[in-house]
Amino acid sequence: MNILITGAGRGIGLELAAFYAKRHQVIATVRNPRHGEALGALRVQVQHLELTQHQSILDLAKTLGDTPLDLIIHNAGVLHAESDLDEVDAFNFAHSIQVNSLGPLLLTQALLPNLLATPTRKLVFISSMMGSMGDNGSGGYYSYRASKAALNAVAKSLAVDLAGDGIKVGLYHPGWVQTDMGGPRALIDTQSCVAGLTARIQELDAAHSGRFLNYDGKPLPW
Ligand code: NDP
Repeated sequence: MNILITGAGRGIGLELAAFYAKRHQVIATVRNPRHGEALGALRVQVQHLELTQHQSILDLAKTLGDTPLDLIIHNAGVLHAESDLDEVDAFNFAHSIQVNSLGPLLLTQALLPNLLATPTRKLVFISSMMGSMGDNGSGGYYSYRASKAALNAVAKSLAVDLAGDGIKVGLYHPGWVQTDMGGPRALIDTQSCVAGLTARIQELDAAHSGRFLNYDGKPLPW
């Protein structure tokens, strides 16, 4: 399989790249080439992608040309840790939407022909429980929550719109994971997270498409 993973230079994306590189052709995108150093130890193709720039998305699509993609994993994400109302910042809010919701949508649009060129046709979005309205009992984190809720809406519409083309859409909370974003107090390591995510991706079919699931397979409230 040919698998494209965004934000693969560190954290969950790097662990996903390491997992899939053992058996598959992985195209790993990095924003900052310095952050791509860890990928040097893996047998993967590294490509540049800055999700806030539409041109960067179009450039990646042009570079890939008609390379078939069996699976696209939209993993890259940003969290601006402004948890309180008085910390809300307009730039950070717009930036979160660009990276966490609009970028993945535009990248899907640009790479749709590549996905349709294979029979596998799996599209995966790494969202967050923080994007759940039903689970929000603690408030705050306006930009992150809103951008992940927007990502959930985007993924759901794609699941509906692309079902006729046989495209299956997976939307997952990866757990609270020990990465730069999750911090050292997080509950699980990247290996446990990726063991769960890859099992979900393996079982992703038309019946699972468009559902919001925890990394262990439990359904999550919208
Ligand atoms: P990290 O902060 O460790 O890594 C984030 C990745 O996203 C990096 O590879 C980074 O690239 C990339 N990225 C950030 N901004 C951009 C951008 N503008 N364009 C392209 N790539 C970008 O995060 P995690 O590995 O922890 O998170 C991965 C995903 O999981 C995210 O979507 C996150 O929201 C989600 N998640 C994580 C949780 C956790 O507990 N860790 C919990 C819930 C959800 P670079 O290295 O170049 O900066």
